[in-house]
Amino acid sequence: MKEKLARLGILSPWGRVLHLPIRYEDETRLYPIKDAPQGESVLVEGEIVESGVKFQGRRILSCRIEDGSGALDARFMNFYPSQVKALAKGKRMRFFGEIRAGFFGKEMIHPKVSSAALPLHEALTPIYPTTAGLSQKKLKALIDEALESVELFDTLPDSVLARFNLEGFEESVRFLHDPSPEALRRDLDERTHPAWVRMKFDELLAQQLSLRLHYRNRRGRNAPVFSGEGRLVSALLESLAFELTKSQKKVFDEICRDLAAGNPMQRLLQGDVGSGKTIVAALAALLAIESGFQAAIMAPTEILAEQHYDKFSKWLKPLGLEIAWLASSLKKKEKEDALSRILLGEAHLAIGTHALFQEQVVFRNLGLAVIDEQHRFGVHQRLALRLKGAELEPHQLMMSATPIPRTLAMSYYADLDVSVIDELPPGRTPVTTKLVSNDRREEVIRKVRDACLEGSQAYWVCPLIEESESLQLQTAMDTHARLVEDFPEIRVGLVHGRMPNIEKAAVMRDFQDGRIKLLVATTVIEVGVDVPNASVMVIEHAERMGLSQLHQLRGRVGRGSVGSVCLLLYQGPLGMTAKERLKAIFESSDGFEISRRDLALRGPGEFMGVRQSGVPMLKYASVDEDEALLEEARGAADMLLEENPDAVNRHLERWLGEKSEYLRV
Ligand code: ADP
Ligand code: MG
Repeated sequence: MKEKLARLGILSPWGRVLHLPIRYEDETRLYPIKDAPQGESVLVEGEIVESGVKFQGRRILSCRIEDGSGALDARFMNFYPSQVKALAKGKRMRFFGEIRAGFFGKEMIHPKVSSAALPLHEALTPIYPTTAGLSQKKLKALIDEALESVELFDTLPDSVLARFNLEGFEESVRFLHDPSPEALRRDLDERTHPAWVRMKFDELLAQQLSLRLHYRNRRGRNAPVFSGEGRLVSALLESLAFELTKSQKKVFDEICRDLAAGNPMQRLLQGDVGSGKTIVAALAALLAIESGFQAAIMAPTEILAEQHYDKFSKWLKPLGLEIAWLASSLKKKEKEDALSRILLGEAHLAIGTHALFQEQVVFRNLGLAVIDEQHRFGVHQRLALRLKGAELEPHQLMMSATPIPRTLAMSYYADLDVSVIDELPPGRTPVTTKLVSNDRREEVIRKVRDACLEGSQAYWVCPLIEESESLQLQTAMDTHARLVEDFPEIRVGLVHGRMPNIEKAAVMRDFQDGRIKLLVATTVIEVGVDVPNASVMVIEHAERMGLSQLHQLRGRVGRGSVGSVCLLLYQGPLGMTAKERLKAIFESSDGFEISRRDLALRGPGEFMGVRQSGVPMLKYASVDEDEALLEEARGAADMLLEENPDAVNRHLERWLGEKSEYLRV
């Protein structure tokens, strides 16, 4: 039993009390069969006029009832002999379920059966989220038991209840588990009833409080102070072929202030694809290095990490700095060498993939960890890196090209500081996006050839095949073979995730240097890859890709001064969501707008990924629908932290008592 409850996230009596129904069923009244609404569960009662076991490919118990207004067939695929007896001809029974139009008239599949002799229910029946082997009845009994064993006192003072016009806690929670006979199902199902509002408010408040406390707590810890005169920073800036944009300067200032303050920075740097986050990270790393600390830069794919390594080498080696490169594909000897340079502090900067998290990686004095494309990493990995600071906690700079809509930022990222780069470097020409049906593939091939012959370069991205990485690989290899035939005069390269890393790196370098003109790739190139001369992006089966993914892929072009195109090949007929996604990507090139639409299409759970966020996901409130309530909960959190620390503790204990391990690290 304990395990089953744990599977539902219930670890204590309080967990049971706060395990609220997902919906309610109405067994308080009987419908005449003729007038019963379709599309929802209803209770009907009648006399059984026919009953028997039939064989239709399998054994089926089928029986017909009549109630004077009409007739209805009920069917059971799994049944016991006792049920056959209970449903004998001539008995009066009640069936509860959804009525649908069957071949022979109205029918119910597997209705809940009860005797017509029993009194009708007096109130709505709560239905709980449950798990295999735990019946509604048993779960309800466990919840009722818990409701009697804990003190249902209100965690919030009267002043807060009055100010935000809230119902009492005890009456709300009891009501949701046992609604009164007058309660309307619609209010309950849509969660607009004051009892639901109270629960959602409490949940949002707990989230806000924990994030605020976390934020304060971080401000109370110590971290290295980087307060050099900026000699290395000036030297790098002077060597660049470009000037920082206003936005880049602004975010770098914000970072500098954090790094000089002596408390660990946890800053999220957001900026659309191509907005120039990497150089900002490099400048921050130089501040650490100038103050005698090491920096680390971590990227989610080896291709991207390698590209960072090339870029940083070009930027930092002329300043006399040493960089260590770490990836899981290194040979033993190379790896040992990198590890020892990191340990001894000979390397000022370490760049790599997840390999940087591993236990054998020990820094002499890590002062700053940069996490590129942070949404690709889990919370545990971020923690692992934080713990690598020898004595002082290192600062963290997290970078992401997936802008987070305001409500999400307010709830899930409220414990981080956020900087936004909100302009692209000058001289970029906007990317033209075209939707092309797969029938017109030949035209696309011609277009790509023309562009390549005129000196541009192109990507050809193969479809994402969710179920099978090897199928995606196969498609990529086939496409590559075909395009090699189609373009005898052009060098066509292939890159995919399963390729040995050395080969991958060699292909990327050839593309970077313009020796390969057309690069066939799987979605491994999705994040971060930066080849300014590439001006054509073809995405096959674009209807299978997610919105953010399409935006990321499109962001690989439009980085140089020639006009770029992104050709989205799709295979009809398109489903609703696919249509919406393609429409969104066609209509907008603004990352924030695309994110907003992506959130609307996917919902916050999937958008964020529980694993990434590290903050408890909301079970009852919704950041989309409860924006106003979220604002109020923020206000209440401020009020309580200021005036009533006891209430803060009580409230967190109740709502997060068993989930505190989820708090962001
Ligand atoms: P992202 O924010 O997507 O990580 P990158 O850091 O890869 O973007 O930058 C994209 C390209 O823009 C790189 O080639 C980079 O050198 C260039 N870049 C960055 N900042 C500027 C700037 N201020 N002016 C011109 N080019 C810039
Ligand atoms: Mg990047």
